[in-house]
Amino acid sequence: MTQQPRIDTSPHVSDEVRKTTCYMCACRCGINVHMKGGKVAYIEGNRDHPVNKGVLCAKGSAGIMQVNAPSRLRAPLKRVGPRGSGEFEEISWDEALQIACDWLEPIRKTDPSKLAFFTGRDQSQSFTGYWAQNFGTPNFAAHGGFCSVNMAAGGIYTMGGAFWEFGQPDWDHTKLFMLFGVAEDHDSNPIKMGIGRIKARGARMIGVNPIRSGYNAVADDWVGITPGTDGLFILSLIHELMRAGKIDLDYLARYTNAPVLVNADPNSPEHGLFLRDAEGKPLVKDRKTGKLMAFDTPGVRPDLSATHEADGITHRPVMHLMAERYLDPQYAPEAVADRCGVTADKIRRIAAEIARVAFDEAFTLDHEWTDFRGEPHKTMTGRPVSFHAMRGISAHSNGFQTARALHVLQIILGTVEVPGGFRFKPPYPKPVSAHPTPHCKYAPGQPLDGPHLGFVRGPEDLALKNDGSPARIDKAFTWENPMSAHGLMHMVISNAHAGDPYKIDTLFMYMANMSWNSSMNTRGVMEMLTDTDENGDYVIPRIIYSDAYSSEMVAYADLILPDTTYLERHDCISLLDRPICEADAAADAIRWPVVEPDRDVRGFQTVLVQLANKLKLPGFTAEDGTPRYQDYADYMVNHERKPGIGPLAGFRGNGEDVGRGAPNPAQIDRYIENGGFFVSHIPEGANYYKPWNMAYQDWAVGMGIFDAPQPYIFDLYAEPMRKFQLAAEGYGDRQPPDHLRARIKATMDPLPIWYPPFEDDSVDTEEFPVHALTQRPMAMYHSWGTQNAWLRQIHGHNPLYLPTRLWEKHGFSDGDWARVTSAHGEITVPVAHMAALNENTVWTWNAIGKRKGAWALSEDAPEATRGFLLNHLIHELLPPKGDGLRWSNSDPVTGQAAWFDLRVKIGKAPAPAEAQPAYPPIKSPVGQGPDHLEWKVGK
Ligand code: SF4
Repeated sequence: MTQQPRIDTSPHVSDEVRKTTCYMCACRCGINVHMKGGKVAYIEGNRDHPVNKGVLCAKGSAGIMQVNAPSRLRAPLKRVGPRGSGEFEEISWDEALQIACDWLEPIRKTDPSKLAFFTGRDQSQSFTGYWAQNFGTPNFAAHGGFCSVNMAAGGIYTMGGAFWEFGQPDWDHTKLFMLFGVAEDHDSNPIKMGIGRIKARGARMIGVNPIRSGYNAVADDWVGITPGTDGLFILSLIHELMRAGKIDLDYLARYTNAPVLVNADPNSPEHGLFLRDAEGKPLVKDRKTGKLMAFDTPGVRPDLSATHEADGITHRPVMHLMAERYLDPQYAPEAVADRCGVTADKIRRIAAEIARVAFDEAFTLDHEWTDFRGEPHKTMTGRPVSFHAMRGISAHSNGFQTARALHVLQIILGTVEVPGGFRFKPPYPKPVSAHPTPHCKYAPGQPLDGPHLGFVRGPEDLALKNDGSPARIDKAFTWENPMSAHGLMHMVISNAHAGDPYKIDTLFMYMANMSWNSSMNTRGVMEMLTDTDENGDYVIPRIIYSDAYSSEMVAYADLILPDTTYLERHDCISLLDRPICEADAAADAIRWPVVEPDRDVRGFQTVLVQLANKLKLPGFTAEDGTPRYQDYADYMVNHERKPGIGPLAGFRGNGEDVGRGAPNPAQIDRYIENGGFFVSHIPEGANYYKPWNMAYQDWAVGMGIFDAPQPYIFDLYAEPMRKFQLAAEGYGDRQPPDHLRARIKATMDPLPIWYPPFEDDSVDTEEFPVHALTQRPMAMYHSWGTQNAWLRQIHGHNPLYLPTRLWEKHGFSDGDWARVTSAHGEITVPVAHMAALNENTVWTWNAIGKRKGAWALSEDAPEATRGFLLNHLIHELLPPKGDGLRWSNSDPVTGQAAWFDLRVKIGKAPAPAEAQPAYPPIKSPVGQGPDHLEWKVGK
């Protein structure tokens, strides 16, 4: 008998497993990092982890190449050549921290607003915001203003929570899942797993996206909508559902402000405001007694239709206003079909399907619960239609109102926080009233008067100086964009360059590739960062930047503070920030150094602690003048935002306390023992109807999410918006500038509206008839992935995809190139045909194109020769309209950058040697990666 070869089918892949949290995208999955000989040998998913339950994606397993990337910065750098050249010398950390302090200390002592501190994709904003608050500058925000603040603010102002990773469909019960827009590098494993689960049960999925890729490719039905018209499509669905009476009247009466009475007298200074009692509570009419009552009175049965007369003024319920607006024929399917690029039949069919599943397939769960009015319920009603949306509907100048419209659609169906519907993840739901207002008062040597970012309730909360000028460098919370809850990072450089509203001294940024893929108007930003004044000094005098990699932005800074990779650092994925909660559980997580850095780099948050200690910032300094924290790990364990509440909720006190408890010196060890995360499950009976469910509210108080129960009703009608309209009509002490009055009145409507994207009004749409979009690749996370040796194999360059109509109209063939022109710029790029695409839309992958010399790639790398950015076609300002003003290319409510409003024209072009525009190479501070990358782990 022939001897069979002996094969070891389960070879030892490691001699140790270290459990931490992935950061190859924003999902924050749990990972088991297998170590051999002290090196990372292999990464797999952690089966016990609440986010991914063992699932690992291609990005996650490619983390090995991220940790070993040749593009990693190696030591602090001081610029020695001109800005933009990439010429640096390596310096010690002592010198780097001293330079930073020498710049920052005088600013703090004289005028803290001269520091602008903005962070990119970092997920430690509660910490970085705390640092900025203690420094005293009003100029802090993270990147939400150019990402998806429309979605976050639209959700909070409507229902106290948003999509993105702050909520999820009830994957166990939903029977119809409708997904609008995507950012496939976010929440990707949970959404993939969820779609898999619902499909296994035979549930249906409808994708609404101009591009049928990724999740949309597996949708049962695809709506290839025209960009920027999602809001109109949604309002048409609302029209159809209201017309057919397919709305949940009981849910609307109990849990929303549909029955709240609104002043209907157009001559009253309170026109459009709620009728309130002496305590300020909105009033409704009780259906049984006909009496006025506060909305939360025990036993009240709010009436959706009764009006009320008082002092000669009629007050009408919000429901009246909604019926009046949305039953209007302007929202009929026939009226919107052409504009949306969706047939009237299809709109009607989708509305009918939503109605059938929500009402004919309703079900109950036998979970007893008690609502905030004290009424006990024996069961929970399930409406198995769920919605989810991401960046696609958000990055438009009408994105805030579109996000609100989608929430109104969910709410009229009674499908938020019910079985089968959309569910919040703690710390949400959280009403506007539980969020801070923005703070901007600063003084030399003092901390800011409160947190920077928040939710304005009316004009009184705007961040304006006494003379009415913007208090913040990004002009957040001003009349131009009153509800800019995430700030406007995309406006910082252009405002600082223009000295409008004032000049700054130091720009301090973290993880934001502003001289490349994170800016609109990429060329303009490069020019602003290198521009000099009449004395030859840089217009933006000093730039400090922190990144782990040799990104394009590195070349434009004066001082580089090199960060670690995600496997070499402590991180805190905190309930104070963007945790990893599930709809049924609160959860948070850590990262810890599973490998020590082999370079002279430090975690950025630790560097901020060290800077705070040198500057003796108040929140970081004990009463005896000694530092409170040695590094970020020390802060994670010992910082208390309030007594007993810290960055990590698990293993507090003696190790058994949850949510609230004294700092526990062994907390990080306990997290590591537990797999790098902590979970606390919401008890059955408390896990649906959360905004109104007293068992949930009490659980949230115990967890430290609230200090007292915060039940509230959903704001179909957003009264704070009406207050801005009233100001624009001339009421109140704080008045907008005249040139903004009409826009505020038109766009700050308290009931969702749709208006065309601003670019449609600013350019000749006959000259620029085509919509142009970018999408984030599922296989990568922004610009980080494109230098990863494994992930580069998936998207080494990015063609511009054309739909069949444009492909044939222009006679394109494989291998062709196109000239693409907008009102602002021109690019020449390779094209490819894609049939499953809105017929009037072209698109490409985001952030694949690289500048020569950056990311340690060779100068002839496909990313640098065939890869390109659409950003060159976009500008932070709209083209001149002839009114003498330059309007910003953003949403007028939140200031969100309107990336996806872009209009272009396209034509065939001779193939150039490389994609245009091509910029001269920058000098790489880390050299180039080797041609051949190979190493052996272990023996
Ligand atoms: S989905 Fe994101 S966080 Fe999860 S494994 Fe993939 S890259 Fe990592």
